[in-house]
Amino acid sequence: MSNDILKNTGLRVTETRQVILERFQEKTAAISQSDIEGELGENIDRVTVYRTLKTFVEKGIIHKILDDKGGIKYALCKEQCHPGHHHHDHLHFKCSVCLQTTCLEKNFIPEISLPAGYLKQEVNILVQGVCPNCK
Ligand SMILES: [Zn+2]
Ligand SMILES: [Zn+2]
Ligand SMILES: [Zn+2]
Repeated sequence: MSNDILKNTGLRVTETRQVILERFQEKTAAISQSDIEGELGENIDRVTVYRTLKTFVEKGIIHKILDDKGGIKYALCKEQCHPGHHHHDHLHFKCSVCLQTTCLEKNFIPEISLPAGYLKQEVNILVQGVCPNCK
């Protein structure tokens, strides 16, 4: 399955790409670069993980989530995203108990209006609270 995703985006299938992609497919919550590094241990170097994540974002396979405290997490794109173009404006939720960040695929960011002269490029909304598992 991970091979198909890689092939569909025209990426060469490498072991690293497969292993990292599988991490995303196993998880429902978003993961950070250091989560991946922690799980893969010494087998993989940081630069490779960083480059792989960057490639996946560019290819529309995963998307970035701005976490609180300036961290970045990533989650699999469930809808049809394409290389160079992500189209989803769903909300992200961070649980303050289990600290998991999840995509709320069915809840969308409301239309945001800006003062004249400002150009909108990206909107990131992180809702913080308690998830159903921790309630
Ligand atoms: Zn996407
Ligand atoms: Zn929770
Ligand atoms: Zn998301």
